[in-house]
Amino acid sequence: MVHSILMIEDEPRIRNFVLPYLQKAGYAVDECGDGGEGLALAKTGKYSLVLLDIMLPGMSGDEVLRELRKTSQVPVIMLTARSEESDIVLGFDTGADDYITKPFSPRELAARVRALLTRAYPPAPAAPVVTCGPLALHGAALTATHGAEKLSLTPKEFDLLFLLCEHPDTVFSREELLSRVWGYEFAGDARTVDTHIKQLREKLGASRGMLVTVWGKGYKITAP
Ligand code: CA
Repeated sequence: MVHSILMIEDEPRIRNFVLPYLQKAGYAVDECGDGGEGLALAKTGKYSLVLLDIMLPGMSGDEVLRELRKTSQVPVIMLTARSEESDIVLGFDTGADDYITKPFSPRELAARVRALLTRAYPPAPAAPVVTCGPLALHGAALTATHGAEKLSLTPKEFDLLFLLCEHPDTVFSREELLSRVWGYEFAGDARTVDTHIKQLREKLGASRGMLVTVWGKGYKITAP
């Protein structure tokens, strides 16, 4: 995803200095030199982040931010001069997410932009996927595939296969499988495990041999 950034800053010198740097960092950047116009643009919702100067013609950065926060929680970094420290405090009160003091290096600004974007738009956590040979089990979605084919498993069959695939070539006794898949409160016996293994083998078809019976010990899964 390409993030769009709006820079509301009336000094062309600063815009010209910062824009190419942000663009090179992979962001789409729009610029605006007027407070009121900047507010209207920011309100469109098309920006992932707003860089907001404080001393602006039309409408000050503080006013822009106050108005913007009535309808939008878009991340905002205030661009402020060293002499405007009271403005910084005010900025945070009004809902700024970060500020950077002029003069700043474009590298520092890009780093803050990146940090704030990561904080505001965290990547979706990767779903746990366990694979063993042609088998792939997606823990979050509770779906399993055998090559290109989707397997239709009951929840217990899924849990059993997931556990075995997480530990390939590890032999689990029936009692261990019972307690880890069915839980200690389960009243059934070891034959429940045998039944489920049998059903899994049928569903695995050509890969049925991956589910290995280790005589006198239990079961394991082995990649072909
Ligand atoms: Ca200014």
